[in-house]
Amino acid sequence: MSKQQTQNHAWLLASRPTGEPTKENFRFVEQVIPELNEGEVLLRTVYLSLDPYMRGRMDDGESYAPPAELDKPMVGGTVCQVAASKHADYQQGDWVLGQSGWQQYAVSDGSDLVKLGNDLPHPSWALGILGMPGFTAYMGLMNIGQPKEGETLVVAAATGPVGATVGQLGKMKGCRVVGVAGGEEKCRYAIETLGFDACVDHHSSDFAGQLAAACSAGIDIYYENVGGKVFDAVFPLLNTAARVPVCGLVSGYSSRDLPDGPDRTPMIMAAILKRRIRVQGFIIFQDYGDRYPEFLSAMKPLIEDKKIHYREHVIEGLENAPQAFIDMLNGKNFGKTVIKVPE
Ligand code: NDP
Repeated sequence: MSKQQTQNHAWLLASRPTGEPTKENFRFVEQVIPELNEGEVLLRTVYLSLDPYMRGRMDDGESYAPPAELDKPMVGGTVCQVAASKHADYQQGDWVLGQSGWQQYAVSDGSDLVKLGNDLPHPSWALGILGMPGFTAYMGLMNIGQPKEGETLVVAAATGPVGATVGQLGKMKGCRVVGVAGGEEKCRYAIETLGFDACVDHHSSDFAGQLAAACSAGIDIYYENVGGKVFDAVFPLLNTAARVPVCGLVSGYSSRDLPDGPDRTPMIMAAILKRRIRVQGFIIFQDYGDRYPEFLSAMKPLIEDKKIHYREHVIEGLENAPQAFIDMLNGKNFGKTVIKVPE
C-alpha cells in the first residue's frame, strides 16, 4: 500500500444538533489506517448511503438503535471493495455491503459484511432499491398496507427510494396511487416516469384541497413517510378500515417541541376507533430482518424486467457528505442519495 493509501479520511460526529443539523456537527479528519490483524479486512468505501434515519442517530435520546458516538466516524451503510485481506473468506477486490460509516477506509472482522458478488451491474443499488429502502417499501406496503385492487394509496416523499418503490408496487397491485412530493418537477416525474395516477406538491398553498381532489374516493392506505402537514391533510380523508404503515416522520426529525395548538389526540383517537383505522409502526430490520431473501426474490425480477424505475442522486466526494445529508433532509435530493467516494 502506498504512503497516501495509509491515510484515512473520515467525518466524525463532532456534536449533537439542537434542531436542524448543520455542517458544524461534523468534523473532517485525516487518520492513519491501522495495520490489519489476522481475520480482518480493509474496506475501501466506494459508495456511502445517506438516509433520514441518520438524523435520529445524531441524538442521544431513547430510540430503537444506540446513538452515533461523538468523535467517532458518523454511522452509515456503505458499498465497499476489499482493499486488503487477512480474512480467509475475503479476497482483495471483493464487493461487500458494510456499515463502515462516513469514512474512506475501515477495518472489519467480516461479521458486519454481506458479500455482493463481483459482477453487479450497479453496486450502489444495494444501498437503495435492492437494499434497506427497497426492503422497507416492500415489507411496509405488503404486510401492513395490504394493497388491494381498486384501493387508493397515498405515499409522500414520493420520488425518494422508499416512496417511489411503494407507489410502483401499489400500481402493480391495482391501486390508484397518489404521490405527495416537493415541487413540480418531482410530481411530474412521479406521474410520467413512475406511473402514479396523480401527485400533489406539498409546497403549494392549497395542498390539502388538491390532495382531497386527487383522492375523491378517500384513502385506503396511507404509507406514512413524513408526518406533519401531510399527515394533517391525509387524516380526514382516511376511509373506514384504512391502513397506515408508519414508516417515517422525516418532517419532524429535527423538532424538539410539540407543535402549537390544541391537543388533537382525542380527535385522532376517536377517528381511529370509529373508522377502525389500523396504524402500525415498524422498523425494518427489527421486524422483518429474516425476510430479506423473500424481498430480494420478489424485487430482482422486477428490476431485471425493467418493471420498476429507480433513480439515484449521486454526489461525488466524501467531503460533500454533510451538506448532501442536510440537503436530503430538506428535500433537495431527487432520488436515493449516495456519496461516491473516489479512490
Ligand atoms: P428520501 O430520499 O425520500 O428523503 C426524504 C424526503 O422527505 C425528502 O427528499 C423530501 O422529499 C421529504 N421531506 C422532507 N421534509 C418534508 C416535509 N416537511 N414535508 C414533506 N416531505 C418532506 O427518504 P427515504 O426514501 O430514504 O425515506 C423515506 C422515509 O422512510 C423516511 O421517513 C425514513 O426515515 C423512513 N424509513 C424508515 C425505515 C423503517 O425501518 N421504518 C427504513 C428506511 C426509511 P420531497 O421533496 O418530495 O418532499
